[in-house]
Amino acid sequence: MSYTLMPLPYSYDALEPYLDAQTMEIHYSKHHQGYVNNLNKALEQNPELAAKSPEKLLSDLNAIPENIRASVRNQGGGVANHNFFWQVLKPDVNFSGPAADKVAEAFSGYDGFKEQFSKAAAGQFGSGWAWLVMNGDKLEIMATANQDSPLSLGKTPILGIDVWEHAYYLKYQNRRPEYIEAFFKVINWDKVNELYEQAGR
Ligand code: MN
Repeated sequence: MSYTLMPLPYSYDALEPYLDAQTMEIHYSKHHQGYVNNLNKALEQNPELAAKSPEKLLSDLNAIPENIRASVRNQGGGVANHNFFWQVLKPDVNFSGPAADKVAEAFSGYDGFKEQFSKAAAGQFGSGWAWLVMNGDKLEIMATANQDSPLSLGKTPILGIDVWEHAYYLKYQNRRPEYIEAFFKVINWDKVNELYEQAGR
């Protein structure tokens, strides 16, 4: 077993009432665990690839043998995206710091950012993610389908929201916009600032 489920950095109910404990438990212990298990299975015969981090694998999908490339893209994406997602969530963190300043500048303030990011998240048809990424030294909002990672496009995510139904259906049913609104209450801007600094601005 090369890959293991990363520890959740808080309890299942830490993000209540915005993200409910039951959804968090199933999302983490079933869905995220499932991606970990399936990535291990996909790379069973390729120990040299299994030695690399999921992020590393995703950043160069052409280096993956064709017969397992789709599995690595999907399952590796599932592992990396969820590892990322848990870390950018935390209750009661203010919108401040260098990334917040840059976001406000790039998207006409917090409200402008919230509007554009929410639109990307709501507009992603079917399963996928919306992202705030660094593309070189530029901030961009984008969406990806399924478990596709911005890393595969040479972009560095600093914030992301999972808009698969498994991320919100128990509490919000079909009301994805309400889930997106709630997500804004639990963005860990401290982590976003850290990722922004790491990306080299
Ligand atoms: Mn998910």
